[in-house]
Amino acid sequence: MIVVNSKRMMVQRLGGVCLSVLMAMVVRADMFKPTIKDQLTLGKRAATEIRKKEKMLPDTDIRVATMRRIASRLLSTVKDDAKHPWEYSFDIVKSKELNAFSLPGGPVFFYSALINKFTTEDQLAAVLAHELVHVRKEHWAYSYANNQKRQLGLTVVLMVLKANQNLFDIASITDEMLITLPYSRKYENEADSMGCDMMIQAGYNPQGMVDVFETLRKAMGKGKPPEFLSDHPDDAGRIKRIQERMKKLNREFPAQRKVSFPTTD
Ligand SMILES: [Zn+2]
Repeated sequence: MIVVNSKRMMVQRLGGVCLSVLMAMVVRADMFKPTIKDQLTLGKRAATEIRKKEKMLPDTDIRVATMRRIASRLLSTVKDDAKHPWEYSFDIVKSKELNAFSLPGGPVFFYSALINKFTTEDQLAAVLAHELVHVRKEHWAYSYANNQKRQLGLTVVLMVLKANQNLFDIASITDEMLITLPYSRKYENEADSMGCDMMIQAGYNPQGMVDVFETLRKAMGKGKPPEFLSDHPDDAGRIKRIQERMKKLNREFPAQRKVSFPTTD
């Protein structure tokens, strides 16, 4: 009896192992992940819609000009961009909502109410750097792929494996899905830490990132949290991690550069 039982257990265990190997193969194959080309198409499509539907601040607005200047300074620190053909754009939506987000492929949008809260260029640089990491590390595409795998379950995964095809269907993606898909804690931490390094390399003070978290926590009240706070109630933990990173570097950072943006509209 004991022998039979242990054999059965062995068979069960082997079955589990096979299944795990199979799943791992699928995960490596990234069959649900949109390609960079798909990401560029989706991002551009959604960005065009947003610019059409929303009230945008004009290119001549000081906030738009400042945002674009800081973005190009941050991007000048990226060495591997040639390998990643992202098509960045930087715009500000006129809105009372405290938000900023990036779309796959490169478009970045800030809301005027958020940018009006910033008192230094370094704070603006912090949110920009965070969003740029989401784009460069393809966080949306990976989150989407993980979500699909979870939702579709093993049967479909096995079918995909058999058919050896990519299940990503660009036509089924709505613009809403590009903006509202939540990122995991892991991706948000990566956006914080790589964003922080990007700021430092570009000559900004990473204290700007700490300021942003604190300002937003105070300002947010009961409203929906902006993208970089979404799903992550432990902003105290995030602040601590940035502070530890700064401490480890054991160096002086340049003073934050003051800005004075309009406080309304
Ligand atoms: Zn984020």
